[in-house]
Amino acid sequence: MEIMTVDDFISEIDGRLISGNLKEEIKQISIDSRTINSGELFFAIKGDRFDGHDFVMDALRAEAVGAVVDNEQVERYNNVDSDEVIIGVEDTTRALQDLAEYYRSLFDIPVIGITGSTGKTTTKDLVASVLETKFKTLKTEGNYNNEFGLPLTLFRLDSTYEAVVVELAMRGLGDIKTLCQIAQPQIGVVTNVGLTHLECLGSQENIAKAKSELVENLPPTGTAILNGDDKYVRQMADETKAEILYYGRESGNNLQASRVDNLGEAGLKFRVSRQLEEFTIDLPLAGEYNVYNALAAVGVGLKLGLNINEIQQGLAEPDLTGMRGEIKELKDDITLINDAYNANPTSMEAGLDLLVDIGTDKGGLIAVLGDMLELGSAAEEAHRQIGKKVINKKIDYLLTVGDLASLIGQEAKKLGMDSSRIFICDDNQEINRQLLQLIKPDDTILLKGSRGMKLEEVEKALLGD
Ligand code: ATP
Ligand code: MG
Repeated sequence: MEIMTVDDFISEIDGRLISGNLKEEIKQISIDSRTINSGELFFAIKGDRFDGHDFVMDALRAEAVGAVVDNEQVERYNNVDSDEVIIGVEDTTRALQDLAEYYRSLFDIPVIGITGSTGKTTTKDLVASVLETKFKTLKTEGNYNNEFGLPLTLFRLDSTYEAVVVELAMRGLGDIKTLCQIAQPQIGVVTNVGLTHLECLGSQENIAKAKSELVENLPPTGTAILNGDDKYVRQMADETKAEILYYGRESGNNLQASRVDNLGEAGLKFRVSRQLEEFTIDLPLAGEYNVYNALAAVGVGLKLGLNINEIQQGLAEPDLTGMRGEIKELKDDITLINDAYNANPTSMEAGLDLLVDIGTDKGGLIAVLGDMLELGSAAEEAHRQIGKKVINKKIDYLLTVGDLASLIGQEAKKLGMDSSRIFICDDNQEINRQLLQLIKPDDTILLKGSRGMKLEEVEKALLGD
C-alpha cells in the first residue's frame, strides 16, 4: 500500500476522529489483530463467530496506529492513549469497502475481475501468469475473494503495479455487484455457471443472474470475456454494454481451441484460432477443463495488447495456487492427484476425468471423495449422480467420507459396483486406514471434496507427514 494519512481518507469512509491525529500515517490496513504490524490501521469487523471490537486493544498493543470501530462501540475505547487513532463509523465492513473503493480509484491501471462457478482461481492464476510477462501484476492470493478479501487484496496495490487480477466470489445476489463497485474492473471473465451456491440461490438461472452482475457492472469501454460454450454465460452478453469476446471449443467463438491433445500428466497442447490467425498453446496442466481456463487468459492477454509469444510464455510456466489438480508422485510409482481444495458437481466430474486421464493404463484408479457442501436441496441428487459417473468412468475403488458422499457409494453399489470396491468411511482417519491397505504400486489416487472435508489430511498421511 502507498502510505496515506488519516486525513486523506476519513471523509471517504464517513468517519469521525475520536482520538489521535489526522496527520498520522497508515502503512497498511488489517482486520486481524494476530497478524497486524506496527504502523497499520485495524478495522474491527463483526463476523459470525468473532467481533473485532474485542481485539482492538490487542491490535494497539501490537503497535497498530489505531482502529476503525462502529459508532455504537466507541465508548469502549475512551481510555486509550490520546495519540492512538480511533475512528468511529456507521458500519466497519462498509467503511472497509468504501476505503478499498477509494484506494483502488487512485490507480489508473486495468483491473480484471473473474467469476464463475468453477475455475475462478485457476483462471485468475493463468491470467496473472500471462500478464506478468509484460506487466507487474497483483493478484488475489488464497481465498481473498469476498467482501473482506477483495478490499485487503486491493490494499496491497502500490504505484509499481501495472495490472490487477481479482477473483470475485459470491454467495448470493448482489455480492458480485458490491465487489465490482469496489474493484471497478474493466475486463470481466465468466468461466461457467454450474451448480455451486444452490443453497443460497435456489436455481441455476439465479446463479447465472448473480454472476451476470459482473458483466452488468463493466463500463461501455470494457470487455466481457465469456465462455461461449456455456449457454448461461453466453446469454450474459445481453446484460452488458461492454464489448464481448467469446471463447470456447465450439465454433462461433471469437477465440476457439481445437486439436486438443490431452497428454495426461504432462498437460495439454492445443491450437487457438482468432479470425485468420492461429497459434499453439502448451499448458503444463492436466485436466481438459484447463483449455477453457487458458483460453480466458489468452483473451485477456490479447485485449491488453500482449503478443502471442508473451501469451505462450505465460501459459508455459503458470504460477498456480495449491490443491487444484496438484499431481504428486509417491513411492512405488503411485500418483496422487490432490484436488481437495473444493468440490461441486462440475468440478467433481472434472476431477474424475483427470483421474481417468492420468491413471488409466498405469494401475488402479482410486477415487477418495468427500461431501460436496452448500448444494441445498439439490445435494442428495447431485451426490447420487456422481455415483453414476464413478461407474461410467470405470473407477476401480471408491472411498467416501461424509454423510452426503456416502450417497455416492450407495448409488454406485446400486448400479452394480462390487461392494468390496466401495468403502464408506466416517472420517479421514478411516480413509487413511483403508487406503493404506488398498494401494498397490502404479495406482493413481484422486482426493476431492469440499473445503470443509479437509481431504488434505489424507495427503499428509500418504506422504507420511
Ligand atoms: P472456489 O469457488 O472454491 O473458489 P474456483 O472457482 O476458484 O473455486 P478452482 O479453484 O480454480 O475453482 O478449481 C477448483 C476445481 O474445479 C479444480 O481443481 C478442478 O477440479 C475444477 N475446475 C477448474 N476449472 C474448471 C473448469 N473450467 N470447468 C470445470 N471444472 C473446473
Ligand atoms: Mg477459488
